Amino acid sequence: MGSLSTTAANKTALTEAQIALQLYTDYFGPLAYKRVHMTQQTACNYGQAWPGVIYIPTCYYWGPTVRHQLGMQQTRGAYWDTVAPHEVAHLWWGHSVGWNSYRDQWMSEGFSNLSASLFLQVVYPKEPQRFRNFWRDMLFLITERNSQGFRPIEVGPVTQGYRLSSGRTGSIASDVLYPKGAYILHMLRMMMWSPKEGDTKFKGMLRDFISTYKNQPVTTEDFKAMVEKHMLPEVKITQSGVSDGFVMRPIYIELQDGRVMRLGSATLRGNTSVAQKVNLGQASKTSRCFFFRRKEPRRPTAGCSRPVSASVRTRPPAVRAARSGRTSCATGWSPPTPRA
Ligand SMILES: [Zn+2]
Repeated sequence: MGSLSTTAANKTALTEAQIALQLYTDYFGPLAYKRVHMTQQTACNYGQAWPGVIYIPTCYYWGPTVRHQLGMQQTRGAYWDTVAPHEVAHLWWGHSVGWNSYRDQWMSEGFSNLSASLFLQVVYPKEPQRFRNFWRDMLFLITERNSQGFRPIEVGPVTQGYRLSSGRTGSIASDVLYPKGAYILHMLRMMMWSPKEGDTKFKGMLRDFISTYKNQPVTTEDFKAMVEKHMLPEVKITQSGVSDGFVMRPIYIELQDGRVMRLGSATLRGNTSVAQKVNLGQASKTSRCFFFRRKEPRRPTAGCSRPVSASVRTRPPAVRAARSGRTSCATGWSPPTPRA
């Protein structure tokens, strides 16, 4: 491996941080700290952000050649190229605004991942494949089955946080929170982008979000309200404006053996949710489910608060059953677990 001077190697981390700080200041608003320190920690592949201090994993300093020799270089999401900008982004997402509960942590990780994609796009304009490959990898992470047979995109909503991981589903939560959280914000970026103004609307929304909730924990509902405030008028994503006379259409459940049975129906008023018990028949035990209204009366979504052995869907769109697990929290980032 030769000699290793982390002091000299830290110049790369410092340079990446300086670029990221300028970029994120443009997108998210002024940094809350006067100084930012970049330093290493002994963990090989785990970075972490603190207020004004960024821990970079020590294997980052080995450089791509040594990591390649050790078989570590190929990671999903260009981990080694994005760990520094991802952690720097936590100075906004996680520290300038926090998260109210485990249900809102997806914003901290997802938004930091989106920030890392901005870094790739801006720093490597002549290598657009870096940006494309990053999102290709995010898509892979949320759609491929893990060793327990679960696809992250189906296991439950981002708002279920680390409860998505369990003895049954494995350590699947991070493959939901990081990539799907990033895709949610990327989707909004694309919806707000225009040839004339570029990311101006998107930046305005995120700057407003940071300044409005500075030094406060935020909820997913806070962010939804901010999106509704800034979304282009021609894009209708809000749930507001739905008639109180809304009647939920029948909801069907698709069992693992392919059978489809009627799950029930629900009547919702206003922007609310409702909980009720449904019998899943021979396929599973009774589970307590809750239903959300959406803009289109024919497209209700549903989630179950306890594990079920079937996916829930309406006709025609598919919706998924959620599963519970345990809670945990962190702002650090490790590379995705390699898959068989
Ligand atoms: Zn993170």
